[in-house]
Amino acid sequence: MYDAIVIGAGPAGLQAALTLGRMHRSTLLLDSGEYRNGTVLHMHNMVGADGTPPAEFRATARTELAAYDDVEIRETAATSVTGVEDAFVVGLVDGSEVEGRRVILATGVADELPTAPGLQDLWGTLAFSCPFCDGHEHAGKDIAIIGAAPRAEHLIGLLGRIVASITVVPIGEKFADDDLRALEAKGAQVSRTPIASVERVDDGVRILTDDERVVAGVFVAAGAMRQRSPFAAQLGLDMLESGCIEIDEFGRTSRPGVFAAGDLAHRATLPGPMASVLLAAAAGQLAAVGIIQSLLAAEN
Ligand SMILES: Cc1cc2nc3c(=O)[nH]c(=O)nc-3n(C[C@H](O)[C@H](O)[C@H](O)COP(=O)(O)OP(=O)(O)OC[C@H]3O[C@@H](n4cnc5c(N)ncnc54)[C@H](O)[C@@H]3O)c2cc1C
Repeated sequence: MYDAIVIGAGPAGLQAALTLGRMHRSTLLLDSGEYRNGTVLHMHNMVGADGTPPAEFRATARTELAAYDDVEIRETAATSVTGVEDAFVVGLVDGSEVEGRRVILATGVADELPTAPGLQDLWGTLAFSCPFCDGHEHAGKDIAIIGAAPRAEHLIGLLGRIVASITVVPIGEKFADDDLRALEAKGAQVSRTPIASVERVDDGVRILTDDERVVAGVFVAAGAMRQRSPFAAQLGLDMLESGCIEIDEFGRTSRPGVFAAGDLAHRATLPGPMASVLLAAAAGQLAAVGIIQSLLAAEN
């Protein structure tokens, strides 16, 4: 029986395992190898690691974790979480089971991109969604925003002071006149016709609509995200409107002994997850501290 089973080894799970390992709590860290930033070449907005390849960040974390005898890592997918506090059972994809007193769900979310031929292939290298992560790399360049008006307006506000020009391209159907005027009033050019496809070219992204333009990169202002794993549903956890698990300050979910950290969870006071490597890691540390407090309380 492990003190804690951490499902997911992105920044949230890696940091949780580090904190638990440093406090000599037997910890099993499970990783199926599906990372939200799996296609990203360089991560940004992370002090001390700005511009680091995410794969390098994860490898460094694994090296650090290897120094802690209480942390065991398995490259495998969990398929189920059942049981109660002090007696959770995590089913693994090979049919075996492991037991833990506490569980941290750190399995992240998966992005569901809008349907535009070619877009998936560019995701993380030439197509992005977060100006904080990838805006500065487009300083002084022409970019496009693909997607719907309210979110596109927000992106124009954030990116407008960084890039040289912004063209907003609708998906599916053309913009209503009001939306079009609102976007132009914010200083963007607006394509009159929806996107047909995008493709990688030498100097960026070729966007095909009724006409054709090449930009340095695109930001996606549409689409959705979903829980990558089924565990929140399996455990019947309280969820928020954003589709994320509701947690408190220490990553506690609505079910005793089940903690959550990273993009898949946030506090009800936030409109959605503040998706970043740094904040996911911070959430992982808080959840680990929450577990240590809860184990201590049970042991005294
Ligand atoms: C295109 C793009 C660019 C980004 N750029 C940046 C950036 O520059 N800077 C920044 O700070 N943030 C960036 N982000 C956001 C950042 O990637 C996330 O906020 C961060 O990865 C969230 O960490 P996490 O640990 O919650 O989830 P993830 O990193 O997604 O990790 C989830 C973990 O759970 C594991 N897992 C899932 N299901 C199972 C299962 N059933 N069994 C076992 N393991 C499982 C996965 O293998 C993985 O280890 C970017 C995101 C995207 C999409």
